[in-house]
Amino acid sequence: MYAPGDVRVEERDKPAIIEPTDAIIRVTSACICGSDLWPWRGLEPLAAEPMAMGHEYVGVVEEIGADIRNIAVGDFVVGSFFASDNTCEICRAGYQSHCVHAVPMGSLGTQAEYLRVPLADGTLVATPTRPTPEQERSLLAASDVLGTGWFAAVAAEAGPGKTVAVVGDGAVGLLGILAAKQLGAERIIAFSRHADRQALARRFGATDIVEERGDEGVARVKELTDGLGAHSTIEAVGTQESMMQAIRATRAGGHVGYVGVSHDVSLDGIELFFSGVHLHGGPAPVRRFLPELVELIMTDRITPGEVFDLTLPIEQAAEGYRAMDERRATKVLLTF
Ligand SMILES: [Zn+2]
Repeated sequence: MYAPGDVRVEERDKPAIIEPTDAIIRVTSACICGSDLWPWRGLEPLAAEPMAMGHEYVGVVEEIGADIRNIAVGDFVVGSFFASDNTCEICRAGYQSHCVHAVPMGSLGTQAEYLRVPLADGTLVATPTRPTPEQERSLLAASDVLGTGWFAAVAAEAGPGKTVAVVGDGAVGLLGILAAKQLGAERIIAFSRHADRQALARRFGATDIVEERGDEGVARVKELTDGLGAHSTIEAVGTQESMMQAIRATRAGGHVGYVGVSHDVSLDGIELFFSGVHLHGGPAPVRRFLPELVELIMTDRITPGEVFDLTLPIEQAAEGYRAMDERRATKVLLTF
């Protein structure tokens, strides 16, 4: 990305092993994230000009550093948007996105044919067999949007007997619905005003749809829950309105799992104090969930790859950004 709205596909040097803990993978598919749209829209500065883009990836291991033990050349692998050693105290507690050695994959740019993965032993998870094309799409979703939606559902303590509200009908919100359903939630209320996304939300497990937003949306959730609000709310947008909607839609003692990257969100202390709501979120430790997600996908028990509604060759990446920006696509998959 050279500037907001200016994405180009160019030849770059093929990455090489730098550290003995690195691996080089041939990326077989990558995708465009809702968070890639923040700089595209000029709402977030570019970290470099031009900046290599992308942080989601699956592919085949081409080369490994001397210290790699857990993966082998030829393995099909999926990793998260943070490289992590998976051995430090923070990782072992399940917070790999905050690893003391974390490397953001967005700084390397995964929308590319080849990728250097730092800390590859801790970062990558190999599949037991070569995935089918459908499974590959779902594994790519696991790299971020599914893993993030899953963390949001876990942070919101979605589970049996719970009513879960989901703010945001982008890929993360939709897969938060899938996660809540898998975790056993009894009732799942999706906020959405787009017919196609409502349909996917229902397919993933939503039991109720609320089209209203803000305090009107909160009022609808209260109506549906005997005036109490949801036990668990997933916030998957990251704006002031969506965060307040999530907190206000949650009953006292309930939990909000927030994973939309917060932009200019500020919380009023006195409202937070009296809400009695638990807040937990941030960049999802996707690596914590990857082994389980890979298992669910490779046995065809979940199909999160359904969120991809536009597939383009990498040469047309700029069109992919435009399609997501203009909401003509929910999630764009890039092929090589
Ligand atoms: Zn770590």
